Amino acid sequence: MKLTCNVIRDLLPLYVENIASDDTRALVEEHINLCTDCKKQLEEMRMPNELPPDTDATLLKKLKRKLSMKKIQTVILSVMIVLVVVITALAYLTAPNYFPYSDNLISLKENSDGTILATFNDKVSGYYIDHYLPKNGSGYVYSITVWNIPWEQYIIKNSVRSTVLNPNGENITSIYYYTADGTEDVLIYGKDLYAGGGTTSLPRLVLAYYVLLAAALAVICAIILLIFRKNEKIRNIVEKVLFIPLSYLVGHLCIKGFTTSSYSAKRDFFAILLVMFPIYCIFLIANNFYRKSKHKKQYNVDR
Ligand SMILES: [Zn+2]
Repeated sequence: MKLTCNVIRDLLPLYVENIASDDTRALVEEHINLCTDCKKQLEEMRMPNELPPDTDATLLKKLKRKLSMKKIQTVILSVMIVLVVVITALAYLTAPNYFPYSDNLISLKENSDGTILATFNDKVSGYYIDHYLPKNGSGYVYSITVWNIPWEQYIIKNSVRSTVLNPNGENITSIYYYTADGTEDVLIYGKDLYAGGGTTSLPRLVLAYYVLLAAALAVICAIILLIFRKNEKIRNIVEKVLFIPLSYLVGHLCIKGFTTSSYSAKRDFFAILLVMFPIYCIFLIANNFYRKSKHKKQYNVDR
């Protein structure tokens, strides 16, 4: 029987998939060396795969590696999501709640040697005392702020704490309670230096600047991304840079919600940096998954 082009065309799929017997392979190759039409057909059939004639074993290995990579990435993704939740929960549990002033919060006792003992009630889990020498006074002005931390309230029961404000007997003109809620500071001892005017301790706004900075950086990266969306190399780099300010913004949202002013800016900033790391990893892995699924879809359409 003569081998027609039609017979060879029927055999080509088997030949391309490497499942033809040696005899068939020899027949196909013999024909293809003589027939340009069938040779062309064979090349076209090989084109969309773009794969060199792999053996089944290497194909399987590749598939396995791909699957295990996906598995590892999925595990990392889950760990990072858990980390974000844990860090956010810890940040809330350890966030200081500043007390508005009340009479029973702090009691002051003047000793005969001129020192003043401040005793805090048992709801207080932390305090901060600052002092400065005013221009118009003969002694120091002290400011006290106190807070409690939910974590310590539920888990560690605090005993009453007290401290001597002026262990070296410094002269004290006045002591203010620093309210940390935008209301006027309260005079709790001595002469009111700000009679009539009053002072208000303002929250730190530094976090608001960081948010603006991150948002600006994100917008710039997004614009660069839009311009170079066709250039894969630049796109890959800019995407990774873009995720940095984006993680910061999401981190801020986790720790501070929609407020940007803070009376404990340093603490909040470190909490945001801490939660930023797992968020950045989540962005990277999620983007990787997204790109792969898009690539796969395109590949299927092409076929
Ligand atoms: Zn032919």
